[in-house]
Amino acid sequence: MSNMQKIWLSSPHMGEHEMKFVQDAFETNWISPVGPHIQAFERELAAYNGIGHVAALGSGTAAIHLALIVLGVSRGDEVICSSFTFSASCNPIVYQGATPVFVDSEEETWNMDPVLLENAINDRLAVAGKLPKAIIVVHLYGMPARITEIMAIAKKYSIPVVEDAAEAIGSNIEGKKLGTFGDLGIFSFNGNKIITTSGGGALVSDNREWIEKARFLATQARDAAPHYQHSEIGYNYRLSNICAGIGRGQLMVLDDRVKSRRDVFGFYKSTFSKMSSIRFTSEPKGYFSNRWLTTILLECPDSQLFREILRLALERENIESRPLWKPMHLQPVFKDCPAYVNGVAEKLFNSGLCLPSGSNLTVSELQRVAEVILASMVTIADKSISIE
Ligand SMILES: *Cc1c(COP(=O)(O)O)cnc(C)c1O
Repeated sequence: MSNMQKIWLSSPHMGEHEMKFVQDAFETNWISPVGPHIQAFERELAAYNGIGHVAALGSGTAAIHLALIVLGVSRGDEVICSSFTFSASCNPIVYQGATPVFVDSEEETWNMDPVLLENAINDRLAVAGKLPKAIIVVHLYGMPARITEIMAIAKKYSIPVVEDAAEAIGSNIEGKKLGTFGDLGIFSFNGNKIITTSGGGALVSDNREWIEKARFLATQARDAAPHYQHSEIGYNYRLSNICAGIGRGQLMVLDDRVKSRRDVFGFYKSTFSKMSSIRFTSEPKGYFSNRWLTTILLECPDSQLFREILRLALERENIESRPLWKPMHLQPVFKDCPAYVNGVAEKLFNSGLCLPSGSNLTVSELQRVAEVILASMVTIADKSISIE
């Protein structure tokens, strides 16, 4: 193992104002899931995204769970979800006693394939005898999904859409922020995301009733009575005032963080531009990705093997990289769920790698990563794999 300092995939990057908000929370003794930073953070998030209503929550997962509850998802229902994602996108479907139905990706954005989505809806109608109760569309690695097409299909069948923009805050299509296309959207502020509150999330919508309902459920569903009275099952899902303070500071630097992440992507892309076996995703016209993580696809024979060679070479130099998300339809825990598959997500999983992408990486750190990759690619070439 190298004794060089560790380079992380994506680490927290605080700005100048977070500490002031946290200090203020201490000084005013709002050290709880109640307090002025929470409302302010909700207002500021709503303004940034151009959406009517926001509930600040303890995690992105909690936001997805509450989205499904306000949409009435319950036992016996089916909910369609992108297969190429992190398990947190679909675990809440199971929390509700419903069944996930997975839909594979298209090649360009790596996100849900709209054609396959419509096939899945029609097939579920034929096989299960009813329409899916909701659709969860994920914008993976910050890249916008084909959300306009997906919304049109969802509308045709009157199925509500939850946009999982956990990785995509700051991304947009023609200026409209991701998370605001669907009936509900969610963001995550977990430690490795583009901005963080240490742990946190948000549920957003233009539907005020849904967001008010989500806040009510997130604070143990307490009825309006002086004693503790409950007519519904509640959750402890609210964000703390301290974490909301961190979030307010992070929101102030979000656009800088997006720019830095896009610069990291630009660095890798130009550094590896001569290597035809390393492929990057490009943004369709009008699409703007926050480039949360830079992902590469190895396009050569034995790409899975060489992806591992590359990953291990980086690890030896104390550099963290990671295979792309393993599709949900290939996860042991979801093996019995219906899935509509075209092989795209599986291919991405087999031959893709996430590179260190933090907004706080220095030029010399990026060069360290690039050198290891360039050297490994030469080794790979020596093993008679074609690179030009
Ligand atoms: C991080 C993430 C989540 C979950 O967010 P948490 O805040 O970690 O609960 C959901 N979906 C995707 C795609 C994510 O990357």
